[in-house]
Amino acid sequence: MKITVLGRYGPYPAPGGNCSGYLLEGSETRVMLDCGNGTFSALQKIIDFCELDAIILSHLHMDHMADCFISRYAMETAIALEKRNEPLRIYAPEDSQMYPLLEYKNAVELLPLDSCLKLSLKEFEFGFLPTVHSKPCFAVKVSHGESTLVYSADTEYFDGLIDFAEGCDLFLCEANYISEDLFLGRKNHLASFQAALIARKAGVKRLILTHLHPKNSLSVTLSEAEKEFPAAELAEEGMAIFI
Ligand SMILES: [Zn+2]
Repeated sequence: MKITVLGRYGPYPAPGGNCSGYLLEGSETRVMLDCGNGTFSALQKIIDFCELDAIILSHLHMDHMADCFISRYAMETAIALEKRNEPLRIYAPEDSQMYPLLEYKNAVELLPLDSCLKLSLKEFEFGFLPTVHSKPCFAVKVSHGESTLVYSADTEYFDGLIDFAEGCDLFLCEANYISEDLFLGRKNHLASFQAALIARKAGVKRLILTHLHPKNSLSVTLSEAEKEFPAAELAEEGMAIFI
């Protein structure tokens, strides 16, 4: 499985950066995990968007879904030009306000995502775990043969994420905060040291910190994580990881 970081920021991008989005590629399958602003453009540096099998949205906050809206115009155009013969499948938690807005003519097939769903998309298997966030949100486990990716999505600390990530090859974990944010009482996200603590307890093989807050220093984010998981890395846009 090849994973490409299309965007590493939240809840808004740093100059020249993008919000959350990751491209997963197998030999037959191309899936976007989250589709924040800027990521649909970044996607097209790597593949033809007509090849996209599905988009999976962890939750319906704009920094994870905004580019879904313009991707629908691209799909509509591709279908009209007979470059693509099926709608784009978008899987998302059923959120009363935002979910129905994702429908668009014949360009989208909108499908509900919940923790019971065992989703197979060609060679990929997906599992989901509800996280602790201000909207319904799911961490995602992706298996491809013997390889496993776990993506935290957005969450506060909770022990269930340790079990969910146990032994995975790559843990792509949000680190929106530094310790100071927790000290100031901020909720809904992990500090980088918490992401690293979860990674260490879960025995993951590789930890990449993402969903970085533009207000926070990258070096502080990384150094606080390294105390718990010395091999922690920061996500870079365009970075490709093979597992
Ligand atoms: Zn977010």
